[in-house]
Amino acid sequence: MQIAPSEIWFVTGSQHLYGPETLQQVAENSQAIAKALNDSLPIPVVFKPVLTDPAAIRTLCQEANADPKCAGLILWMHTFSPAKMWIGGLSNLRKPFCHLHTQFNRDLPWDSIDMDFMNLNQAAHGDREAGFLHSRLRLGRKIVVGHWSDPEVIARLDAWARVARGWLDLQGAKIARFGDNMREVAVTEGDKVAAESRFGFSVNGFGIGDVRAVIDSVSDQEVASLVDEYRSLYAVSGDEAQIQAAARQEIGIRRFLTEGGFVGFTTTFEDLHGLNQLPGLASQRLMADGFGFGAEGDWKTSALLRFSKVVTHGLDGGTSFMEDYTYHLDPADSLVLGAHMLEICPSIASGKPRLEVHPLGIGGKADPARLVFDAPAGNALNATLVDLGDRFRLLVHEVEAIEPKAMPNLPVARALWRSKPDFKTGIGAWIRAGGAHHTVYSYSLTTEHLEDFAEIAGIEIAVIDEETSLREFQNELRQNDLYYHLAQGVKGH
Ligand code: MN
Repeated sequence: MQIAPSEIWFVTGSQHLYGPETLQQVAENSQAIAKALNDSLPIPVVFKPVLTDPAAIRTLCQEANADPKCAGLILWMHTFSPAKMWIGGLSNLRKPFCHLHTQFNRDLPWDSIDMDFMNLNQAAHGDREAGFLHSRLRLGRKIVVGHWSDPEVIARLDAWARVARGWLDLQGAKIARFGDNMREVAVTEGDKVAAESRFGFSVNGFGIGDVRAVIDSVSDQEVASLVDEYRSLYAVSGDEAQIQAAARQEIGIRRFLTEGGFVGFTTTFEDLHGLNQLPGLASQRLMADGFGFGAEGDWKTSALLRFSKVVTHGLDGGTSFMEDYTYHLDPADSLVLGAHMLEICPSIASGKPRLEVHPLGIGGKADPARLVFDAPAGNALNATLVDLGDRFRLLVHEVEAIEPKAMPNLPVARALWRSKPDFKTGIGAWIRAGGAHHTVYSYSLTTEHLEDFAEIAGIEIAVIDEETSLREFQNELRQNDLYYHLAQGVKGH
């Protein structure tokens, strides 16, 4: 998939009080940590010269804002760094930052420890000074505590760095909306102006005729070669003419998106004017290549899916557009069957997908081609972005996916899961929070990723997991309503 190059800056704070030798040592130690992180994290980590005065801090923050590759900053105070020096820079910093509270030396050298050691290894109080200022300025940030060689510390930085890359990708990202919303549907609507201002991505509509013109320009040769690719990847059956039409759609939509610089799109079965079938297979395969997608005009899920694809790039376990479709309400083991009319991403297929052609009850078009498969067992989550009118809420539900049973008459891809902490609590909480029927469903995206995302975006996150109690969850939503209302004031969202 296409992701622009990005990097994380490793920034150390200090001061001149202890002389040039100490600062030299601070720089060497910081370089060693930056190198170790560079070797461990999925995004390059770049060492930046140690900062010791307000002007240098301000300049570095301005450079970070201006550098299109800089996804975020890791900040660490090796020695004490008086934090008033950081006010000017951090007040103007527009990139995410992570406060790494670590120390160069893991162990205290009991036999040799002296005041030089104490003055060099001062993060214990230097980072408290920094943390006060971050809190005083109400700055969103991630705080990671522990020695820099600790695998848990690395894992938490890995999660944040991935999210920083995803956030960078969202800035200026373009989502194409083919047709409008499914008529009368509420939850897929929302404030696109607010979304662009809050998250950085834009959503614009295009007439279906515009994409149809590109689809019509696709050559028979291109279609034949893509159908060959289908045969090499999938167990193909069904009406050849419809498979060719689906291949033509895929090439045309991909061309439209690529030439226009779009990273996501939406369709709606209510606006297929001039298209021969609902683009199911195209949507599935474009998702697998990292494009965001939302059905029925759902641009919020399309953008969240693109973001999730960038965050989880290179990790095991796929990520898809999903819909809570129907339930198995056995009181002993209640389950959710997730699917969509067509558009589930084959990145979550547990085996070789089957490419089939079946009738579709809505839309009034030819029988669409689609990939049919089962999603695997494993830990997964559903996430959705809710527009509450005056602000956004990110809602996350951790689930346990199980192997779907055989459903020989169901002609779509499917996933089957148990809700955490249990069906009634989990689903009750989801509905209480206003969660959509459309989600991003993922085996690789984690609650930690989404917490980091919400912190950077400055939005509420509500998590339904093993610990959720309905009463506390409901109170948390009420308190958050008040907090975000006050925090945003008249600016709104
Ligand atoms: Mn739907």
